[in-house]
Amino acid sequence: MIKTIGVLTSGGDAPGMNAAVRAVTRAGIAQGLEVKAIYRGYKGLIDGEVKTFTSQDVSGIIQRGGTIIKSARCMEFHEPEGRKKAYETIQREHIDALIVIGGDGTFTGGRAFAQEFDVPVIGIPGTIDNDLWGTDATIGYDTSLSTITECIDKLRDTATSHERVFLVEVMGRDAGFLTLNAAIAGGCEVAIIPERAAVEEKVEEAIGSGRRKSKNSSIVLVQEHAVEGGAAAVAKIIEKAHPEYSTRVTVLGHLQRGGSPSAYDRILASRMGVAAVQALVDGQRNVMVGIQNDDIVLVPLSKAIHQKKDIKEDSWQAMSVLSI
Ligand code: ATP
Repeated sequence: MIKTIGVLTSGGDAPGMNAAVRAVTRAGIAQGLEVKAIYRGYKGLIDGEVKTFTSQDVSGIIQRGGTIIKSARCMEFHEPEGRKKAYETIQREHIDALIVIGGDGTFTGGRAFAQEFDVPVIGIPGTIDNDLWGTDATIGYDTSLSTITECIDKLRDTATSHERVFLVEVMGRDAGFLTLNAAIAGGCEVAIIPERAAVEEKVEEAIGSGRRKSKNSSIVLVQEHAVEGGAAAVAKIIEKAHPEYSTRVTVLGHLQRGGSPSAYDRILASRMGVAAVQALVDGQRNVMVGIQNDDIVLVPLSKAIHQKKDIKEDSWQAMSVLSI
């Protein structure tokens, strides 16, 4: 029977992770469980950075970005030796199950650990990339999308004042959700994403054709890994093909991760945190809590990790049609 659960945040931080930690802590306590926070993701699990959390430990954090229990990328956890050390912490602290909040790397590590040491692991998708299969949304995505859109709005003001093409580099690892949807929301001219390559054609279509002449500004969003060299490389392509236009590159970088989580992300994190604890109490293991059509679902970690979520074709079409 599960008496003590451990909770950690791992990988890139995402707005709403605190709301998830709060929900896991309070839902756990409500179920009569002891909740132990593990600091700095898998690194803290290896090093034994563990603290029992009370309800007060998570008060006043629902509106805060980042993660109060810190996050880290931990190479040691990739190795069986590192995971063995992590298991020693689990035994020493009498932790019966783990709730891991993060992205696909976090789930990959969690699944390997669960299989090696027979510890139930539940994943909560906390990543701005929204790239996990089996869930319509991940915690942090909505906030990040709004932040990027706000930045585009500001750039638009200056873009309309000059005959320049603005290139904006957006995060997303291997996925184009943030880039495509921010491009739609920001009314951008082009979105360059890994799922739909052909950079030159896209740029030519929007910048080189007569289309641009009727416009008084051009903003091109470039997903960080869609093109080798990112937005700067696309700027070079444009300047070479169209020396009449000068380009300006903005890399949004870590701005995209920061800030207070949106109401949507807070609610999503709260629902998922409560559902993760309930899943453990119900005897579930090695699943991710997801949301589909506004219903909480449980998805095997293996599927969430290995299956590829594709962008919506109608969104891609909308982007093309509306940028004319
Ligand atoms: P995001 O995509 O938002 O950055 P993520 O969870 O995918 O989040 P990663 O840095 O890929 O971020 O993974 C977080 C941590 O999970 C790693 O630092 C490592 O400790 C662990 N991890 C990742 N992949 C593996 C793996 N194949 N085996 C064991 N542990 C892993």
